[in-house]
Amino acid sequence: MLRLLCFTAHPDDEAGGFGGTLLRYSERGIETHVVCLTPGQAATHRGPAQSDDELSALRRGEFLASCKLLKVSSAEVLDYPDGRLDRQDFHTVVADLTRRVRQIRPHVIMSLGTEGAVTAHPDHSMVALFATMAFHWAGRTNRFPDQLQNGLQPHQTQKLYYATALFTMPGRQPVSLAPTTAVIELEEREIETKIAAFKSHTSQAPLFGFFEEMVRKRRRMEVFHLANSIRPRKMETETDLFAGVEDAG
Ligand SMILES: [Zn+2]
Repeated sequence: MLRLLCFTAHPDDEAGGFGGTLLRYSERGIETHVVCLTPGQAATHRGPAQSDDELSALRRGEFLASCKLLKVSSAEVLDYPDGRLDRQDFHTVVADLTRRVRQIRPHVIMSLGTEGAVTAHPDHSMVALFATMAFHWAGRTNRFPDQLQNGLQPHQTQKLYYATALFTMPGRQPVSLAPTTAVIELEEREIETKIAAFKSHTSQAPLFGFFEEMVRKRRRMEVFHLANSIRPRKMETETDLFAGVEDAG
């Protein structure tokens, strides 16, 4: 059984950044897992929520609804503070994500890119950094050895991808994206489900119009950057994140 693990920062990142890809691999029989680091309690758009706690609860539910549409095998929202991932203790968060990598034992990990995606949101950048170190350190016996005392084993994931883009946002400060090395062309049905998953985030309804128009007109693909590979290799353009992946363990 092949497994795919996706690390995100906020509820809605899974649909906006990875929705078509998550759906495709799930329908191909691959186990898909999403771990979202914050419940999104600092969002500008807050629906009927009167407090951060109410918004967190609301967005956790929206996240589960979205993941259900995307046929995600397991979906988890951690409890780190939205907007403050850059103030968290690096070692603690990486340990937390490393434990999940060792439990889930993915063959491929996806996360946002270090630039913070086209929005350059610092939380997105921090997820990339945390996920990158969890990818590397989960396989090493001398990293977080305390986790390896009750049957949990080191786990070396075969590939790490950052979501990236082939455009930047006009009128915004500069952002340097990771070059695209993998292109997932979405089918019509995958686009519709991705949009529906995004719209499960009803507290974020003011974003729906822009998102839907952008996806339908200009973003009919999801693109990625292969950041690390278990096998040394030259860069080549891929159309399958599992290309060359071996189903062992
Ligand atoms: Zn986000």
